[in-house]
Amino acid sequence: FRAVIFDMGGVVLPSPFPMTKEYELNKKIPAGTIWKTIKDYGENGAWPKLEVGEINAEEFGTIFSEECSKTACEKIEVHDFLEYLEIGMKNPITEVLDAVNCLRQEGIKTALLTNNWIQGDGKSLLPFSRNHFDVIVESAVVGMHKPKFPIYNYCLSKLNVKPEEAIFLDDMQPNLVAAKSLGIHTIKVDDVHIAINELEHQLNVPLTSATKGTRPVRKEMQFDVASLTAYLNEKLNMGFTHVPEIREFSHGQSNPTYLIDYGPNAKKMVLRKKPPGKLLPSAHAIEREYRVYNVFNRIMSALGQHGVKVPPVLDLCDDPLVIGTPFYLMELGNIYKDPSLPGMNPQSRQQVYKAMVDTLCSIHKVDINKAGLTDYGKHGNYVERQVNIWTKQYKRSETHSIPSMDRLMTWLPQHLPTNETTTVVHGDIRIDNFIFRRDTPEVVATLDWELSTLGDPISDLAYSCIPHFLPVNFPIISGLKGVNMNELGIPTHEKILEMYCEKMNLHQIDNFDFYMAFSFFRVASILQGVFKRSTQGQASSDKASATGKLAEHMSDIGWSFASKEGFKLFNKMNPTIGGGATRKYSSRAGKAKCGSVFVRSWCLAVYTRNKLKSLFSALPQSTQELHSKLECFMTEHVLPLEETFSRYYSSDKKWTPHPELENLKAKAKSEGLWNLFLPNKEYGAGLTNVEYAYLCEIMGSCLYAPEVFNCSAPDTGNMEVLSEFGTEEQKQKWLLPLLNGEIRSCFAMTEPKVASSDATNIESSIVEDGDNLVLNGRKWWTSGAMDPRMKIIIFMGKNDPNAIKHQQQSMVLVPASTPGVKVMRPLTVFGFDDAPVGHGEVAFDDVIVPKENMILKAGAGFQIAQARLGPGRIHHCMRLIGSAERSLQLMKQRVKSRVAFGRALSTRDTILRDIATSRIEIDQCRLLVLKTAHMMDVAGNKAAAKEIAMIKVSVPTTVSRVIDRAMQSFGAAGLSGDFPMAGFYVWSRALRIADGPDAVHEAAIAKREL
Ligand SMILES: Cc1cc2nc3c(=O)[nH]c(=O)nc-3n(C[C@H](O)[C@H](O)[C@H](O)COP(=O)(O)OP(=O)(O)OC[C@H]3O[C@@H](n4cnc5c(N)ncnc54)[C@H](O)[C@@H]3O)c2cc1C
Repeated sequence: FRAVIFDMGGVVLPSPFPMTKEYELNKKIPAGTIWKTIKDYGENGAWPKLEVGEINAEEFGTIFSEECSKTACEKIEVHDFLEYLEIGMKNPITEVLDAVNCLRQEGIKTALLTNNWIQGDGKSLLPFSRNHFDVIVESAVVGMHKPKFPIYNYCLSKLNVKPEEAIFLDDMQPNLVAAKSLGIHTIKVDDVHIAINELEHQLNVPLTSATKGTRPVRKEMQFDVASLTAYLNEKLNMGFTHVPEIREFSHGQSNPTYLIDYGPNAKKMVLRKKPPGKLLPSAHAIEREYRVYNVFNRIMSALGQHGVKVPPVLDLCDDPLVIGTPFYLMELGNIYKDPSLPGMNPQSRQQVYKAMVDTLCSIHKVDINKAGLTDYGKHGNYVERQVNIWTKQYKRSETHSIPSMDRLMTWLPQHLPTNETTTVVHGDIRIDNFIFRRDTPEVVATLDWELSTLGDPISDLAYSCIPHFLPVNFPIISGLKGVNMNELGIPTHEKILEMYCEKMNLHQIDNFDFYMAFSFFRVASILQGVFKRSTQGQASSDKASATGKLAEHMSDIGWSFASKEGFKLFNKMNPTIGGGATRKYSSRAGKAKCGSVFVRSWCLAVYTRNKLKSLFSALPQSTQELHSKLECFMTEHVLPLEETFSRYYSSDKKWTPHPELENLKAKAKSEGLWNLFLPNKEYGAGLTNVEYAYLCEIMGSCLYAPEVFNCSAPDTGNMEVLSEFGTEEQKQKWLLPLLNGEIRSCFAMTEPKVASSDATNIESSIVEDGDNLVLNGRKWWTSGAMDPRMKIIIFMGKNDPNAIKHQQQSMVLVPASTPGVKVMRPLTVFGFDDAPVGHGEVAFDDVIVPKENMILKAGAGFQIAQARLGPGRIHHCMRLIGSAERSLQLMKQRVKSRVAFGRALSTRDTILRDIATSRIEIDQCRLLVLKTAHMMDVAGNKAAAKEIAMIKVSVPTTVSRVIDRAMQSFGAAGLSGDFPMAGFYVWSRALRIADGPDAVHEAAIAKREL
């Protein structure tokens, strides 16, 4: 063979098949619609036209949406399908590019033969350097596609080889059949690793490069190579005169790891050393890690039947003079870094995970007495000791307050396991700590024993499940959350538990959530240590700084497990135990004794079985996952830009949205963090108000965040109006671009001349003129009017001043560009102009719009305003809780680090009282908001009117107080633009008037009470 031809999707890039299924699931499109459409339409459909470049991505979106709609017999919108695939397919499978490299080094020609498409930016889809291949044939560029013969012949001619001299790898059978009939040898790719193996056999050429996963050694990680060479020659009799090539492994945070390569005929070695600089005690115990290897080597030779596999250690050098720190050397093997095992088929993935569990069991089954390991660690109370160690470690490296970490440090010691067993524990079980054989998914060695000791084996098991709860692409530890595990063949964490219990002969593990909470706590503590070191410039990875910030995310997940475990324990508790008398009344919405004075406000007899989900852990798993995804997104992408945005929106460019905002929006959208507010499943996330409350709170922690997720006012309210009351045409024209985040909108009701808290006062007019409506009036406080992206206004005016009081008003859609619409000036709140959204004064002078722009019907203005304001008010309150929570968090950090009159502020009684009061008030507000959200969910907005009014009054006032205390604790800085509190304060104060003044709502509450 002289040439190898590779397909792209499913061979060089991840396969689009599982992504398509995911996409259908996310978008609630009937399963299988997309591939059925492609198949049914065949050569006449949009897909082949896209592949040969006849239509572009945008045209494809339109035609393909129609085709899919016909297939599914319902309206289907797939405009962003290609974008979704492009994101999922952006990372090439390194093993394949590695193989391509090796082939070229052996003088074998390589080609990429792909059916691809031209993306929105006009470039073809090819997310890696063209230099990888000798020849690249793209269907969208050459205007031909597989499985038609001409494109194969074209590729062969470019390679200048005969069909029988080439091997072709593809995952699609029809493409392979066509190639075979031309005389090309074919390999079907179901599992990239197996396919590469087959290719290796066919060609008899090694196809993995040793430098995989490595990079040149970073400057701060360099050491004296000459000294190492001299040492190796002396100690290991290397017998080479030349200096080896040294590269650094890119993964791994704690101990820097290097590849030592003497060239083709020598064993490749791995060197692990301590990082430079002063370290926390007990971390980076290289000598200990080495000792364990030796012990295990001993065990292995003595007790081969245990089958624990560790890599043979070649040497330990504890002389710091050789390369600056102690180090050890071992042989190189094959490691999978990504737990989703890209490029493997489901069966192999299953086997890899099974091999991991089996190896874990073999470690836990080692007889410590027979192996002479009784002194390898203390016996019993392992978890308790570990909790102490990691608590101390965390406290030593604490840089700021992490509330969930504080809670875990209290909770874990109170819930320790009572029936621990003692075995050898590894302490860092994850897929990338195993070396696998290349041809079969068999473990040949287990790495990273530096945390091993005698201890509780379930802690290892729980630790191995951490990736199951982290998002894909999570820094440092890639996650599996959101991945379709069933489809990929990856066992769920429950399945892993089951496999383990079966092999270890255990019935079940009752308190597994405790172990998960403990595992996340430990990772959080480790990451905090990495972060602390990064602030001192000693981290062993340049990603360390970003990693440390993830400590908070990890501890939050830990806390969610603790809550779950706590809830389980609570449910099991006998109500009479612990002095707990049976409760006379309930704080849950449910059937209650009507008539009792205590229960009246909770008496929601019509919705008996719906219990209020006041515990986060009671939310559906999918919402909990959205929650952690959102939090992660905020930490990684939004909060780092907060200061930039704040500075920008105070500059003279402020009325033009910051360019980075659109990128953030695109990213959030691609991650499914989009239109979360909209309960309507057709257009939005379809969450209940209670579910959204938890998410909205996160968004409220930064003033710039809601827009990133297309969840900001006034667009949210306007989108709800359009989705509920708009005609099909109005939806197409205005709702869809709003849902896509392409345009913005505003709501013009309040007028300068009349008290508009009473909207029956408004004087703007709507007059019919043939097929048109003519609008006149002056509005102010029209939020969003200043924004250059604002394209549509919902205008409220009177169309019939003689009708009954609440039917005189109507709402009309007015495109912002309509002649006669004039934005006069931006208004300010305490001097804040809220750029680029702004609150404008707007003149409407003889504005003419077609009659079809009326929303719902003439006279329905009040009805629509009421429907709009309910959800709008609760969203404001949910966000305010996020602002309060963040203010309190900042306050706690500040008072711990600020010293006045010789003492930290955090020791002052007044500060302690302020913190306590704020905590109480925030939690009170949150519960009232959740109750209101719950009532809206189960009984409707109308039934919840009193509760909506109550939170509308209570939350802004209370939150203003919380923020005020936080500002006070910061001194002058609290009032400045350097921190977000001043902005939060202005907004919370404004909300006592916006959405209707408090007095109006108080009157409504009192009336209902009376
Ligand atoms: C930041 C911000 C954004 C806004 N965004 C928008 C928007 O996008 N679109 C829009 O149309 N409007 C918007 N508004 C306007 C807002 O809805 C009105 O300001 C509000 O309804 C009050 O109307 P008003 O200012 O005319 O006060 P008025 O109606 O004149 O009331 C003044 C005061 O009278 C008292 N009062 C009124 N009624 C009663 C009562 N029944 N009992 C006792 N006392 C009473 C209260 O103290 C009240 O504050 C916004 C306002 C702000 C501050």
